[in-house]
Amino acid sequence: MQAEIRSDDKKPETRKKFDVIIIGAGPAGYTAAIYTSRAKRETLIISGILPGGQLMLTTEVENFPGFASGIMGPELMTTMRQQAERMGTTIIDDEVVNVDFRHKPFKILTYSEEYEADSVIIATGATPRKIGAKGEQEFSARGVSYCATCDGPFFKNQEIVVAGGGDSAMEEAIFLTKFANKIHVIHRKDKLRASKIMQDRAFENQKIQFHWNTIIEEIKGNQKVNQITVKNTTTNKVDTLEVGGIFVAIGHEPNTKLFQGQIDLDTNGYIALKNHTQTNVEGVFAAGDVHDHRYRQAITAAAFGCMAAIDVDKYLSEHK
Ligand code: NAP
Repeated sequence: MQAEIRSDDKKPETRKKFDVIIIGAGPAGYTAAIYTSRAKRETLIISGILPGGQLMLTTEVENFPGFASGIMGPELMTTMRQQAERMGTTIIDDEVVNVDFRHKPFKILTYSEEYEADSVIIATGATPRKIGAKGEQEFSARGVSYCATCDGPFFKNQEIVVAGGGDSAMEEAIFLTKFANKIHVIHRKDKLRASKIMQDRAFENQKIQFHWNTIIEEIKGNQKVNQITVKNTTTNKVDTLEVGGIFVAIGHEPNTKLFQGQIDLDTNGYIALKNHTQTNVEGVFAAGDVHDHRYRQAITAAAFGCMAAIDVDKYLSEHK
């Protein structure tokens, strides 16, 4: 359980009812809050256990407009948080454990409090997918990582594995060449899903070796990872790679478990939107990676946050 924080005055939050409660504090959540607060709607963000979302686990962001020389992910999120607070948003670093969208006002329960809201924006994002290999759980944080930015420096001058064939895997592999001697990219198919530019950068990098049609069978070690067993699915040949770690970069799962049975989800568990950013429950909106499995960029998440905030403002004007 996290302590309540209001960085403007550091007093605990006493208000329990808000015009809008935003669940999640990534680019979508912070942008939505900047807009709703600026529109004079009493706004609460319940940030969850990783305020800032996935960008807190990123190094340099080169493609967020407005930063000609790029900006570090955590710095971008801290700045967004400060901007939301300057607009008057209350931010609580607590986790939502239950919601009740059946009656109005909506009820949102955290570990420590129950809040009420006339409208809700869900901006809970998505979480890295697990590969499901033997040893993955056992060696998590002992050589198995889901964040190259966070853990890359621990693998100086080592050989390591990156699992996946998308943009994330290529980005992580290229980033990790700063530290590691050699990167083995293990991909289950014979071609990458990653964009052409990322493929070209990875292919050009002499430190990266590709293993096609290959799956990870087992992650082994003592105190930490020291071997990974891989199998070629075309030849059935099994190989053992003597490596110090593995970075799993195979996509994400939407963080929607909390909302199952309360709002409509699609077949992959992402929130299904009904009308612009509105869910099937009138007054409950969604923004960012929690519904967007196509674009999944910081800038698109921020844009969805803006749209949800405008939709909320209109909804509140019509219903309050
Ligand atoms: P992704 O595009 O969904 O790619 C996931 C990769 O992991 C695919 O190659 C997939 O294999 C593989 N995979 C999935 N489940 C697996 C499993 N159980 N075992 C083994 N392999 C598995 O996810 P992403 O790379 O995280 O990218 C997500 C989105 O963010 C994309 O739209 C991407 O373009 C964007 N993105 C962009 C950048 C950039 O432009 N700099 C950086 C990062 C992400 P298959 O190919 O066989 O399906």
